[in-house]
Amino acid sequence: MKVIFHDRFYEVYTSDPAAAAGRMEAVVQALGNEFEFVKPPPAAEEDLALVHTPDHIASIKRSNRIYEVGILSAGGACLAAEFAWMGQPAFGLIRPPGHHASPDSCWGFCYFNNMAIAVKKLMKKNQVNQALILDFDLHFGDGTENSFAGIPQVEYFHPEGANAQEFVKGIQKHFDRAQNFDILAVSAGFDRHVEDWGGLLTTEDYRRIGALVKTYSQKACQGRRFAVLEGGYNHSVLGQNVRFFLEGMKD
Ligand SMILES: [Zn+2]
Repeated sequence: MKVIFHDRFYEVYTSDPAAAAGRMEAVVQALGNEFEFVKPPPAAEEDLALVHTPDHIASIKRSNRIYEVGILSAGGACLAAEFAWMGQPAFGLIRPPGHHASPDSCWGFCYFNNMAIAVKKLMKKNQVNQALILDFDLHFGDGTENSFAGIPQVEYFHPEGANAQEFVKGIQKHFDRAQNFDILAVSAGFDRHVEDWGGLLTTEDYRRIGALVKTYSQKACQGRRFAVLEGGYNHSVLGQNVRFFLEGMKD
């Protein structure tokens, strides 16, 4: 399984928790030598424009530093999607996150919608007709939903649950009901962990979710699956959570 990562993701590009020092280090360290790391190219402006308005792109460009790391993050999602399309599961260990970035606005530590750009790029190349996006971050990905408004071929699913068992079961039930899709894309936020903001899921639950992603993608779309990092802010557990999720999801 490929892990898409760039050294510039270590940079503290703002003062928000997604950009905090030590966050990427914690994950890289937890993944050890188990996964092959691949460096992404930056996304081209025409890729950004598949989702975002010229005004939005121009507004992000006002900060060089955020723009530069932002296009690498979007490029990382695109590369993960490309690997998935070619039959190799992949994880974009990227930041800034993206699911609160809408076509013309953004908030919540997000600038460009990495996931939406990656899926739209596959659709533009006519590689993908239908996509299912699972977003298990604590927060609803309003930006992703807005990016696919009026595009019924892309389904955005944000599970909820009163406890961990219900939450994981809800994902399974949704996959059982899901119609055809050509790729299963995952916005993987780890801020619902028992020791993070959401206080719900254990590290083992992330392995279960990863395994569901693998099983259902194999049933529906020849195993074509990828994930990108969204939230997750407790550095002492984030690395393990990512590792367990990838262990469930990998071949
Ligand atoms: Zn979140």
